[in-house]
Amino acid sequence: MALLIRDGLLIDPARKVSAVLDVFLQGGKVAALGRGLSKRSAFKGLPSMDCRGKWVVPGLIDMHVHLREPGGEDSETIATGALAAARGGFTTVLAMPNTRPPTDNAGLLDDLRARAASAAVNVLFAGAVTLGQQGKRLGRLAAMRKAGAAAFSDDGRPVGDARLMRQALLLSRDLGVPVIAHCEDPELMGNGVMNAGSVAARKGLRGIPTACETVMAERDISLADEAGGLLHIAHASAAATVHALRRAKERGSRVTGEAAPHHWTLCDKDIPGLDPDYKMNPPLRSPRDRDAVKAGLADGAIDAVASDHAPHTRERKALGFEKAPFGIIGLETSLGLAMTELLGRTLSPSALVDRMTAAPARILGLKSKGSLGKGMDADVTVIDPKAAWTVRPPFASKSSNTPFVGMRLKGRAWATIVSGKVVHAL
Ligand SMILES: [Zn+2]
Repeated sequence: MALLIRDGLLIDPARKVSAVLDVFLQGGKVAALGRGLSKRSAFKGLPSMDCRGKWVVPGLIDMHVHLREPGGEDSETIATGALAAARGGFTTVLAMPNTRPPTDNAGLLDDLRARAASAAVNVLFAGAVTLGQQGKRLGRLAAMRKAGAAAFSDDGRPVGDARLMRQALLLSRDLGVPVIAHCEDPELMGNGVMNAGSVAARKGLRGIPTACETVMAERDISLADEAGGLLHIAHASAAATVHALRRAKERGSRVTGEAAPHHWTLCDKDIPGLDPDYKMNPPLRSPRDRDAVKAGLADGAIDAVASDHAPHTRERKALGFEKAPFGIIGLETSLGLAMTELLGRTLSPSALVDRMTAAPARILGLKSKGSLGKGMDADVTVIDPKAAWTVRPPFASKSSNTPFVGMRLKGRAWATIVSGKVVHAL
């Protein structure tokens, strides 16, 4: 299978490239790069894609998604989640292990990876840090790594026991994949449903203080500094967490972090009434926290963009703000929200592409992804930076729990190419 992607603006931050170049894909790899390849006789008559006015970037990577299979197939499956990813411009996603049962053993990983083989995009899987994500006993990390686990996480909940977290970080150093921390202090979390503060008080809802996230982030950074492990802080939502990441990096720590589109786009003041499509964990914070997330993405305190795509059925979200589960879908709006909200004032095109490609590839140690140098995987996203569109159903995701319906966005995935094959095109 061969494809010539011609006349697009190639933005490849890992190689510091931003120029109009043709990219030739063959055999699942980037086979050639150059100016005006289409005019050379060797490329005449080959299938080609005219990308004038478009950005050609390494396939986007979302390192934090929930695909709900097994156990939650009424809200999403690996297949439908992968279709949502393709539509959103993502060629690789990392699925979290908080399924039913949780992904905590090599056998289940083998099974999931076999199911994902026919998915529209590359689906990687994280293994659980603790057995059954129960937080009591360390999981079988080495065996899961051997079975292809791309990271370890108890996401959905924290690893409350600092000793277990320390052991996991020590192992992560030897196994070469990160421990992704969902930072939440269980006691401070309590039964909170939204950000603690005046908005929660006005709505009569139980609050979640920012310290709930930050004390655990600080704890995990301390543990990683001592153990030397690979720590990645998931969905940083609070200004203090962003500061903690920044300070850690300034003193040479290897810790990395990610932020989700809703945390830089919205704040608690934006929640209309008691709409459960604005309920997620961590919650929408204050305007100051929202701005700190943007600043963290700008100066690199936060390395990567990750959606925390969390599908839920309409029935479960209809339980109301207090009872509905946390989470919103994000794969189909992540790129648009990044381009609409961050491009220009916060991030240059190259920095934006970095946060969605090279950075997650580096964090996950994906050596053949995140860049389009010769010999790299033929995963490419073609972005129309001028496409203006309105978020509206139907979604490729099986669920539609998002607060962004009706929002006007600028910038969209025009084509998504996985291993040289076009899996989405507008
Ligand atoms: Zn989480």
